[in-house]
Amino acid sequence: MGTDSETGADALAFDRAHLWHPYSSMIDPPPVYPVVGAEGVRLTLADGRTLIDGMASWWTAIHGYNHPRLNHAAEAQLRRMAHVMFGGLTHAPAIELARRLVLLTPAPLEKVFLCDSGSVSVEVAIKMAIQYWQARGQPGRQRVLALRGGYHGDTFAAMSACDPDTGMHHLFKGVLAEQIFAPRPSCRFGDAWDPDDIAGFARLIEAHRDELAAVILEPVVQGAGGMWFYHPEYLRQVRALCDAHGVLLIADEIATGFGRTGRLFACEHAGIAPDILCLGKALTGGYVTLAATLTTAEVAETISRGGAGCFMHGPTFMANPLACSVAVASIDLLLESDWQTRVGGIERQLRAELAACAELPGVRDVRVLGAIGVVEMHDSVDLRRLTPRFVDAGIWLRPFGRLVYMMPPYVIATEDLSLLTGAVRDVLSELDAFEATP
Ligand SMILES: *Cc1c(COP(=O)(O)O)cnc(C)c1O
Repeated sequence: MGTDSETGADALAFDRAHLWHPYSSMIDPPPVYPVVGAEGVRLTLADGRTLIDGMASWWTAIHGYNHPRLNHAAEAQLRRMAHVMFGGLTHAPAIELARRLVLLTPAPLEKVFLCDSGSVSVEVAIKMAIQYWQARGQPGRQRVLALRGGYHGDTFAAMSACDPDTGMHHLFKGVLAEQIFAPRPSCRFGDAWDPDDIAGFARLIEAHRDELAAVILEPVVQGAGGMWFYHPEYLRQVRALCDAHGVLLIADEIATGFGRTGRLFACEHAGIAPDILCLGKALTGGYVTLAATLTTAEVAETISRGGAGCFMHGPTFMANPLACSVAVASIDLLLESDWQTRVGGIERQLRAELAACAELPGVRDVRVLGAIGVVEMHDSVDLRRLTPRFVDAGIWLRPFGRLVYMMPPYVIATEDLSLLTGAVRDVLSELDAFEATP
C-alpha cells in the first residue's frame, strides 16, 4: 500500500519529470491522482478518498477490483511458474484458455493466437489476412477497408486503420499504410434500418476488391473513435458483401467482447461470424495484459501452406501463463454469473438516469447500449477542469473530445451506479452554468 514516500510530493514530482502517461505531454502534463488500492468498483486515492470507477480501467475490470477468484488464479499460477516461452513448449493455462475461446466464439473460429495487447492482436489479424492472400497467389491484396470513426490501437498497422481524421494519420503520413475508409455508419442501433446506409461501403469494397486483404471494423459499437452505436443490419450486409467479393472480415471485439454490449460478443447482434476476431481488454478481467486473435481453419491452413510455411509472428511473452490463468478464471466467473441480467439492469438504469442529461444545454446526444453510457457534448470538454470536479464528486471518469462516457464493472450496485450518473449530471450541469458565465 502507498506510504507517503511512495505517493507523496516527491514521488509525484518524479512521475511528472520521468513518466509518460497515455497521450501526455512531457512539458506540461496534467495532474495525475495516485491510487493506493482498488476494491470492487472503488479506487482508493493516496489521500484516503474513494472514487466509483466508471471506466472499469478502460473496459477491462468487468468483475471489479481485487476479486478473490482472480487473485486466487494469479497466485496459484505464480507458485507454479510465472512464465515460460511458448516456442516449443506449452502449458495448461494456454490450452484451457484456448478451449474456452473456441467454444464461446462463433463456430468457424477455431485457431487461437495469444498475444500481448489489443493493438498487437490487430497487427496479427492484418498480417494473417495479408499472408492468407500471399498463400493464395494474390500478393497484391495488402490493404484494408475500415470504417470512419473506428479505433483499432496505436501500433502502425492498427493506427493505419483508425479514423483518418481523428486518428494519427496526419502525424505519420508517409509512414502509415494507406487504407481505404468507408463513411461512418449513420443508422443508429435501435432505429429503423436505412438501406442507403451501406451504399458507400458497398461501392468501396467493389471498387477495391482486388487490392483488399480484409475489411476491419468494430462490430456495432465503435469505441475510442467516437463511442457510436450502429445498426446490426450494417454488419450483416458487410458480411454478405465480404462474401460476395471474396474479402476477409476482421471483427475487432477488443472493447465489445465479454458481454459489454449485452451479448457475449457484439457480432451476435447481427448473427454473423468474422473470419478473424480480435479480443483483448476484458479478457483477463482487467488483471494483466493479454489479447487473442482467432481465425478459421481455412485461413490458418491456407497461411500454413503458403511460401513461409507458417504464420510469421511469435512474441516473447506469447501465451504468458499468468495472464492465461487469470483469463480462464475471468471467463468462468463471467459465465457462472448472471451477467445478462446485470448488463441488462445497468442498461435500463443508465437509460433512465442519463435521460436527464439530454436536457442540459451543453449536451448534444445521450446514448446507451448494454453497460455503456455516453453523454456527447456540443464542444470538447476540458479534462483539466472536468477531472477534478468528477474526483470531488467521488467518481472516476476519463472523457475524451466531446464524449463523457461510462462503462462500469458489471458488479456495480444500483446505488453506486446512481451515484455515478448523479455525479455526471451534477458536474455537467454546473459546467454549463460555469461556461455560460463569461
Ligand atoms: C483498446 C482497443 C484496441 C487496442 O488495445 P490495446 O490493448 O490498448 O493495444 C484496439 N481496438 C479496440 C476496439 C480497442 O478498444
